[in-house]
Order: sequence, then C-alpha cells, then structure tokens
Amino acid sequence: MSKIGFIGLGIMGKPMSKNLIKAGYKLVVCDVVKAAVDELKQAGAEVAETPREVAAQSDIIITMLPNSPQVKQVVLGKNGVIEGAKAGAIVADMSSIAPLVSREVHDALAEKGVRMLDAPVSGGQPKAVDGTLSIMVGGAQTDFDELLPVFKAMGASVVLTGAIGAGNVTKLANQIIVAVNIAGISEALVMATKAGVDPELVYKAIRGGLAGSTVLDAKAPLILDRKFDPGFRINLHIKDLANVLETSHAVGVPLPVTSAVMEILQALKVDGMGESDHGAMVRFYEKLAKIEVRRPDEKSAKSGN
Ligand code: NAD
Repeated sequence: MSKIGFIGLGIMGKPMSKNLIKAGYKLVVCDVVKAAVDELKQAGAEVAETPREVAAQSDIIITMLPNSPQVKQVVLGKNGVIEGAKAGAIVADMSSIAPLVSREVHDALAEKGVRMLDAPVSGGQPKAVDGTLSIMVGGAQTDFDELLPVFKAMGASVVLTGAIGAGNVTKLANQIIVAVNIAGISEALVMATKAGVDPELVYKAIRGGLAGSTVLDAKAPLILDRKFDPGFRINLHIKDLANVLETSHAVGVPLPVTSAVMEILQALKVDGMGESDHGAMVRFYEKLAKIEVRRPDEKSAKSGN
C-alpha cells in the first residue's frame, strides 16, 4: 500500500489523516503545531520535521492548509515538498485556495515530474470525522483514478470536475451558494420574527418546500439555539469569498450579490465576530432591525431594544 504524507493537521486535517490510518495507510505527517503532530503520532503516524522530509518518504502527499500563501510556501518554498518529492509522486492539495494558484503550483511540480490534483472538500469537521466529506477534484483522469481509494477513505462523494484548478473553482461555487443562502435565511428569519411570527414554525413550515436546503437545515436550528461557535468561521468564509471575487473578476464575471454578502461578513469581522460560525450572519440583520431571532416562549427573548 502506498505511503502517504500529510501536511496540515488542523480542524479538518486531523480527522482526515486519522481516517487514512484507520483505512490501513502508512502515514508520515508534519505541522507547525507540535500538539497536533503528537496527537497523530499517538494514532500511529510517523513524524517528519519539514514538508521536504515528508515528501521524500511518500508516494502521495496530501496538504490541508489554510489558504494559497501557505500552500505555496509548504509546496514550493524552502524545505518544501518540491525539494523532497520523488519523480512520479502525486500531490493532492485538499485546502480551499485560489484556482489560479493551484495551476501555478501544479506547473512548478510538473517540471520536476511530480503530479498534482486539487481536491478541496465540503462538509466541515463533523463529516471530516465521519469520513463522509464531499471532495471536488481537478486534474488528470488517470491521477484521479489512482487516488480514488485514498479519497474514498475520507469522503462519501468524490467527483472529478475538470482539469487542475477545477476542484477549487467548484469549491468557490459551493461557497457562493452557502454564503448567499445564509444571508437569505437571516433576512427571512429576522423579517418573520419582527412581523410577530414564531421563526421556528416558519422554519418547520418551509423546510420541505422550495426554500428548503441543506444550509437551511444546518443553520436555522443553530440560529434558533443561539449557537454561533464554529463550525465554519466567518474569517475562513471571508478568505473563500476573496478567492471567489478575485477569480470571478479575472474571468470577467461580476458578482453583485456575493459582493454584498462579503461586506456583511467584513462588518461582522470588524464587530469582533471573525471567529464565530458563519451562521452569525443573522447578527448583522438583527442589529439593523433591533430584534433577535428567538423562540417566542424564551424568557430571554428581546425585541425592540
Ligand atoms: P486550520 O487552521 O484548523 O488548519 C490548518 C493547519 O495547517 C493548522 O494545523 C496549521 O498549523 C497548519 N499549517 C499552517 N501553515 C503551515 C506550514 N507552513 N507548515 C505546516 N503546517 C502548517 O484550518 P481547517 O479548518 O482545518 O481548514 C483547512 C482548509 O480546509 C482551509 O482551506 C479551509 O477553508 C478548508 N475547509 C475547512 C472547513 C471547516 O469547516 N473547517 C470545511 C471545508 C473546507
């Protein structure tokens, strides 16, 4: 069985790498946070000091890092994957980054005979733990086929959507739909509450109709419970929408609605909510309307303050 290098053991990378160990793969890992590395060592992984050392020992190298600059540094920088990777090895970058950067990193690796797929994920930490992520992949069909069993150990849905960069274009499309959906849910629940209708009953009444969605079912209960701990942080969604707007402007697509939602997220960040779940978007509308979306029987319900 192939040996896998895994770099980036954060909220997502930790459970994803543990699922690879459970599936029987040998892992060698690294991260700048020692506690995360120690946890994987306990779970049976070998440890390396640098991405270069990880790559030198691996047939497949997976990266799960915050954004484009970290991926460029870890793969192409000093002591990076590119310095250690064997010709014929394959890099799967599962971070959500700018598609143009995926192509740039792919091309630099190709000069050394190293292959690459971009394979960002959707589903968040619970699905990373369950091994039921949705994985959207860009790259060559043959490379995709080779890595499919590895992806299947982490995800329930794995789809090749095109050439290198297509995985991240798909992820950006996903993030537009999620962000705009949460903004719409927020507007609707604030409007219903201030009009005197129980927002929980509104949710129950509409969830089976055309307005129903996975986003509605994931976020409306959390909003009603006033649970805004992440989940998916507002700061990460800002990062994704920055990549969305950069990419859409580069290819000549204006995104007026997504731009408006980006400004809502920026306002929440300035208001100290960057580390809250993106469901906290409702707080922006609540401040404007001077009401909170709560069940009417809650003693703590506030209105008109
Ligand atoms: P995270 O910040 O928890 O994890 C990133 C990890 O990368 C950290 O452990 C960090 O120490 C490590 N790292 C950073 N720079 C490094 C370097 N130079 N060398 C080695 N390690 C380094 O982030 P996360 O929530 O796990 O997200 C990872 C990616 O997955 C992001 O692109 C994010 O947008 C995406 N994503 C996250 C979620 C979610 O719900 N959290 C869902 C889908 C996709």
